[in-house]
Parts: sequence; structure tokens; C-alpha cells
Amino acid sequence: MNNFKDAGLTVAGILYGDTFLRRTEFWDEDSRNKYQIQKLKKLFIECNENISWYKNIFKNMQCSPMHDNVIDIYNNLPILHKATVRENIDQFVNDKIKNVIKFQTSGTSGEPLTVHTHAHQWINEQGVIWRSWRRAGFNLGDRVAIFRSYTPKKSNSTIKIDRFRNWAYLSVYHTDEKNLEKYADFLVHWKPKYLRGYPSSILLLSKYLKDRNIIIPTLKAVFTASEMLSISTRQQIYQNIGLEVFDHYGQAEITVMFHDCEKHEGMHYDWEYGKVELLPSSASGLYKIVATNLHNMAMPLIKYDTGDLSDGEFSTCSCHRTSPLLKNIIGRDMDFIINFDESKIPAVNFYTHFSKVKFAKRVQLIQERRGVISVRFESWSSENRSAAQHELELLSLKLSNTIGLTVDVDPNQSIIFSKSGKEKFVIQKLKY
Ligand SMILES: [Zn+2]
Repeated sequence: MNNFKDAGLTVAGILYGDTFLRRTEFWDEDSRNKYQIQKLKKLFIECNENISWYKNIFKNMQCSPMHDNVIDIYNNLPILHKATVRENIDQFVNDKIKNVIKFQTSGTSGEPLTVHTHAHQWINEQGVIWRSWRRAGFNLGDRVAIFRSYTPKKSNSTIKIDRFRNWAYLSVYHTDEKNLEKYADFLVHWKPKYLRGYPSSILLLSKYLKDRNIIIPTLKAVFTASEMLSISTRQQIYQNIGLEVFDHYGQAEITVMFHDCEKHEGMHYDWEYGKVELLPSSASGLYKIVATNLHNMAMPLIKYDTGDLSDGEFSTCSCHRTSPLLKNIIGRDMDFIINFDESKIPAVNFYTHFSKVKFAKRVQLIQERRGVISVRFESWSSENRSAAQHELELLSLKLSNTIGLTVDVDPNQSIIFSKSGKEKFVIQKLKY
């Protein structure tokens, strides 16, 4: 997408987010259902005409989206999995839509997927994101320092400024002492109002700022996305730099979005964007998030299994917005550690366990065998590498004693990052 088109769609999204979407977050259940049914009908009619995958399904079901009950059709459709889409990608693409916008999913699990969308859907996308930024008091033109999405070429600076948007990018690939000092110095002088990044990158920066008593008084809040934000990370960022974190949940297949509000009691369901269904999973109390983007005619994915899980069912928030709330989205099914007896332990427990380390800058768990995990780490400096190893060994021993896992600290292996610099706390190599 070129800058001009991107800017145009963003402005349209802002208008949409500031008008319609500021009202709909207070709509009652009946109005929400009516809206979704109307959008689903439009989507199903498009599918019946131009998406060969769904044309076949509707034919086999002997139903007509134009005349039959939309919810009946929806309920009878099968759950869609990523592998099905990957293997039959041409059958999901709408050839009638020109000027498509394409995304490549990062494929951290080794299964990249190209997703198609179009301008109208993109306006919805921008509108929902804008609404969530507004909850943090964001205004157009406010300076945002972004600690992600920037990979400098060798000769380039580790900081890049986008003057058009008033955004500055800091490289997550350069977090040695020299660069962190440079980032802190830059932030003090550039005076951003918001920080945006992966929870892991923001946590790291916040620790650095706290340890050196560096205060950036212009900062108002933090926006996080793309990695699971644990309660302890949220708390630690607040303790380190006194900023509230506003979290975003979305996924590259663009079927669903959730955002938290100023109460931070959970994630509000952006029901205007996608329809979400929670289905029981193999773990008690956890539900599969199955979603349908209500606007994407370029590549409709209906009842798509996002692979992510909700901790509990929908509830409500004390902020008085009526949009339903999920207490906690705990990430891909892969975020589990498998014990000797094959029981699954949510990785979030381990995250909390290892989050209070002092000398280790990053910690990562690798599981290749049942009941066995290997701990990799990076220390704040080469001088405190052995202190970091020691503190991790003590924590690992505690873990072995309490839940019976074999936990070994491996000082010889480096942390594994995704191509975009995302840091996954657990690298799960077991199939389960
Ligand atoms: Zn709320």
C-alpha cells in the first residue's frame, strides 16, 4: 500500500472510529445481533456468488443465503482451519475484487499464509484501532515511539523518524547497553506521548529506564500488541515507568479484534468488526476463539479457528460500555508446557515465575521432550552473565521441585526471535 492511499484510508477510519464506533460500543445485545446478522447476510451472498469454496459448501447444504435464515446457515457451517485455507487458497480469494491489499502472516509456526483484504475492510480495521487509542487519550499528531516493526540496514541508524505520522521507530534488534542509552536519550529529547511495541520490548525498555532513574514526563500511556500481555508484565511496566498499558489483540488473518479500556479489566470484543464464537477446548475453562470478519469480501474466512484461547467466557466491564469482555486471551494453543504425565500447563504460569529476574534481560523456554524444558537467556551485560545463570538455576530448581518438570538452564544457546523481532517466551517443539 502506498503512503497516500494508506493515509486516505486511515483518515476515513478515524472518522468512522470517532462517530459510528463511539456509539456502537454502548449498543444493547439485540442491536448488536441485528447488525451482525445484516453483515453476515451480505457476506454470505458475496460468498455464494464469488468464493468457490463457499459456493460448493452452500450447494451441498442446499441453502440460499439470499432467502434462508442467516444464523441457521452460520450454525451449519464447519469450523475452518488454517491448513484448509492454505491448501485451498485459490478457492477463498475473490477474483471480482480489484486493488486488493495483501498481507503475509509471519508464520512463526512455519506456516505462512497470504491474506487478502480491500479498502472498505481496511477502514473498519483503522476505525476500531483508532477507537481503542482514543481510550488512552490519543489525538491525531501525538508523537508515538514504536519499539517494533523496524529492521535497520547495516549502515542505517537504529532510530528512524516518520515525520509524516510523527512516529519514531526504535530497532528491537539492537538492545545492547549502547543502543538502550541512545534510545533513552532520544526519548527524553523527542518527547513522545505514547510508547508502542511488543510487551517484551516495552518491558525491557521500562526496566532500563527504571534502573537508571530516567523519567520521560511527556509519556501518557503504552500500546502493546502481537504478543501475549501477561498480568505481571502489565504490572511491571506500570511499576517501572508508571504508565498504563492498553493492549490490542488481533491476528494476521484479520478475523477478529479485542482491545482493553481504561479500566483494564479484560479485552472488549470489537463485535462490529468480526463475529466471535467461543468453543470448548481440551483444557478446562479455556475456550477456542473462532471468528469471522464481517467486512472482508476479498477473502472471507467464516468460523475461522484462530488457534488462540480465551480464559473463561464473556463477561462485562465496569466502564459501562456494553461490548462484551474476555478476561484474558492466553494466546495460541502452543503456549503450553507438557508435563511427563502429558498434562498441559499454561505457559503464563511460567512467565510469572521467571518475570522477577534481575540479571537476565530475556528468558525463553524451549520444549523438545515431554516433561523437560530448557531455559535460554540473555543477560543485561557480559559481566552479570553468570549471575543471571545462577538466578535462573535457582528458579528452575524451584519449578522442578514443585511441579516435577526437568528444567535445565542452557547458557550456550541464544534466544530465538521471529523474523519480525517478536520474542516468543515458549518455543514448543512437541506436537500435541
Ligand atoms: Zn471497559
